[in-house]
Amino acid sequence: MQLDLIKFISIVCKSICFSRGLSLIVGILLLFSTVSAKHRLNRKSIQLNAEVDSLSYAIQLRIFPEQKRLQGSNKMVFKPIHPKNTIEFQLHANLNIDSITLNRQHINYSRSSDNVILQVLKTHKRMQFDTVMVYYNGNPIVSKNPPWQPGFVWSKDSLGFPFIGLACESEGANCWLPCFDAWNIEPLQVKLTIDVPEGLTAVANGQLIGSGNLNDGFHRFVWQTHYPINHYGITLNIGKYTHLSDRYTRMDKAQLQLNYYVLSYHAQQAARHFEQVKPMMRCFEKFLGEYPFSNEGYKLVETPYWGMEHQTCVAYGNGFKNNEFGFDFIIIHESAHEWFANSITAQSRSDMWIHESFTTYMESLFVECMAGPERAKTYLLNQYPKIQNQRPILETFGINRQYKDNDIYYKGAWILHTLRNCIDNDTLWFNALFDFHQTFKYQIIRTEDVVDFFSARCRIELAPFFNSYLCSKNVPVLEYDIIHKNGLNELHFRLKSNQKELEMPIKMTLGKNRFETIIAGPEWQLTDLPYTDESLFQVKPASYLIEIKRRKRF
Ligand SMILES: [Zn+2]
Repeated sequence: MQLDLIKFISIVCKSICFSRGLSLIVGILLLFSTVSAKHRLNRKSIQLNAEVDSLSYAIQLRIFPEQKRLQGSNKMVFKPIHPKNTIEFQLHANLNIDSITLNRQHINYSRSSDNVILQVLKTHKRMQFDTVMVYYNGNPIVSKNPPWQPGFVWSKDSLGFPFIGLACESEGANCWLPCFDAWNIEPLQVKLTIDVPEGLTAVANGQLIGSGNLNDGFHRFVWQTHYPINHYGITLNIGKYTHLSDRYTRMDKAQLQLNYYVLSYHAQQAARHFEQVKPMMRCFEKFLGEYPFSNEGYKLVETPYWGMEHQTCVAYGNGFKNNEFGFDFIIIHESAHEWFANSITAQSRSDMWIHESFTTYMESLFVECMAGPERAKTYLLNQYPKIQNQRPILETFGINRQYKDNDIYYKGAWILHTLRNCIDNDTLWFNALFDFHQTFKYQIIRTEDVVDFFSARCRIELAPFFNSYLCSKNVPVLEYDIIHKNGLNELHFRLKSNQKELEMPIKMTLGKNRFETIIAGPEWQLTDLPYTDESLFQVKPASYLIEIKRRKRF
């Protein structure tokens, strides 16, 4: 990846006033005033190039589990931003189109791969809000490895009843739904009307606003969501479900509805196991603000695959198991995505680290809530060996990258943990994290927005920091040497990275068993070490994602 392709925003460095640590304040003031003067990356913003606005969907589907088939329609209502002679949306080539109308008039279309292109004629009336109605049917692609491979999951429960799920994050919702399938377009409302064979329950996003027997062998369930939703977050689940209902009392004493849909024979086990949802809600609420979809409640839905962050309808298939830290990874991870992925959504898969890094970081904060900061460090250290550093985390904008490593998860979490330790002021760090969600909730954002926000909120120029960690596969290297001279010990150190402006406050033993902060930058610096036993030298453990190398200074 070439750095000039990455468009970070630099901000003007404001004077800063950290509330503690005078020597560190002076150090950081010097550090960041120097950096801000030098560092001006390309400010040009990326256009989101969405062609539709104020989008809503009304999806109507009948599901035939035995034939692994669906039949239905999607009514797409939207404000065209720049009306053209064509309207283009997506539907997987596997699915057949029966007909399409634009504002109730039939319209001709062509298909190219997964794109459907409507030819708008002069005889077609355009409206302030256009309505495209697509009738379609067919056998949607089947996921070979859910949730990583896209498609439907046609499964059976252990009693032989259909148990059906859907996962399409990697490929997009067009694998089952005609839609404007892009990360930077979110429908503001989605109504899902789903007919399933009698005896089964269909569970989807938002609230259940109606259900009834159709007396033709099918039962209808109508779900509605009123929050902006990313396309891969739209979903449906079908099974012989039991509905468990609970409530969580928010910090402001308001009630949040908790709904669990599990296979009937798992009801008792699920009721016990899902108790951990309440302390999780408390923890995330403390760090990020209230659950972002309060009006529609929170749902866990048992699925025939591991998990997925479907908005207000979290897919759960982890077999009611806790990890060695005493929590269910899928509940905590996928639910944290309600804040990062569903509420705050990245503009494209090239910026997907925003979803996964913050979400994975929230896992460690959950451990911190439940068992304290030392245990959280142990959790992070468990993730550390999984960092691969094989390629940069940030992809060129617009590239639909298929991630083959886990660096957007574990390395991402460690980047945020490192930033917390460099800032070295938990009040500031956690206020910034809280405000980050409050500022961008329900919005689509770019990597530049993250850099810009934390720079401004923490009053630190952070472009070199993020640029170094996101745009290079290598992490910064702290090089040091200890030299004995005239009866004194000198510590020589520098920080090597792809950013010549990068300087980081790092704690190391500058006294016997006492950590002090030095500002490490690209130039060699030295300080006295008041001890002779070199084995006493260490960088504060479990604090920074850096490589530490001793090398001969002279
Ligand atoms: Zn995730």
